[in-house]
Amino acid sequence: MAAVPTVELHRHFEAGLTPETVARLAEKHSVCEVRTRTGILIPGVDPQDPDSIRAYYRHIADDFTRPDGFAHFVDSFGLPLSVLTNLEDLEEAAFDQIVALYEQGSLHTELRGSAMTYQERIGAPVPEIISALRAGVERAFTERGASGTFIVAFSRQNGLGPEDGPRMKRQAPEVCRAVAELYDPERPIGLDIAGFPEITFPPRLFEAVTAPVREAGAPITIHCGEQGRAPDFADAPPELVVEAIERLGARRVGHGTCLVASAEARRVVREAGVGVECCPQSNRLMGFVPRLEDHPLRSFLDEGLLASISTDDPLMFGDFTVGGLLEHGGDALALGDAEHWRLAENGVATAFVSPARRALLQERLRMLRAQPA
Ligand SMILES: [Zn+2]
Repeated sequence: MAAVPTVELHRHFEAGLTPETVARLAEKHSVCEVRTRTGILIPGVDPQDPDSIRAYYRHIADDFTRPDGFAHFVDSFGLPLSVLTNLEDLEEAAFDQIVALYEQGSLHTELRGSAMTYQERIGAPVPEIISALRAGVERAFTERGASGTFIVAFSRQNGLGPEDGPRMKRQAPEVCRAVAELYDPERPIGLDIAGFPEITFPPRLFEAVTAPVREAGAPITIHCGEQGRAPDFADAPPELVVEAIERLGARRVGHGTCLVASAEARRVVREAGVGVECCPQSNRLMGFVPRLEDHPLRSFLDEGLLASISTDDPLMFGDFTVGGLLEHGGDALALGDAEHWRLAENGVATAFVSPARRALLQERLRMLRAQPA
């Protein structure tokens, strides 16, 4: 393990597969062509060749700032999704990812993904999908000592469609029910509300549907306060972060960059001990902050917020580990050794883990810190 360990809490599962893993699974399942999420063929990309996959994602990243960049980004999840074809793939890919990251310095890693999206691809019931992913994460710990958690997501824009409409447009009730049923404090899973736009689908819309999740004791995080742009971030109101805490009992927020615009919202976050999952490279590449230097992560740390740092979507954003992210962007973010330790401590403090696992992670951190440099 590296000298300063990392803790990553915001990483999308299929977007965290390396090009090598995608290529290996493509070969295993004889996947020979790349299609978007909506099924459109992308010519000239070989899914069994890691270099070809890398070139494809470099091209996607170059397009982010174009008007249709976000659509291309969402479409590009089609490739990793196309190679995950059964429950065994999910279990193995979760195991492999947690172990690989542990070996590269991640003390604890939380993966997240849309159970309904995998269900659509694989055909198994949602509880079986979640169980397979949790099994992979747990096996990483029992066999290799690599700690992780799986967070089950639904899309806000596809959360509460009409009852007689398609299942994929009404994901929230089914996903929340499954998370509540499968939650076990000794083997925790979390819930994430993802998707866009935030203002059209504010947290309060999901208060009733997430009630069983809260009653079961399962922790909730929500992509929130992300889709605002510097300098005022007014298009992602900080009040929505407060609303997520007060109405959903959110224990963490994904991104939360808009908090920079409101001292009052930061006070609520700090006093509630809510974690802020910062993903600076993602925010920069998606155009929400112009430069890494403009990202508020360091100011959040200085104010005592429980901020951590994550890659978000490594396939699309380039760095596969938080260690890599800090190596390439740490100076621009004004993060030195002291902040690296703080990020790891905040990550452990706000991880979705059992009390026993948190105590173990704290002890591991303490021991690593006591080692001579
Ligand atoms: Zn995300």
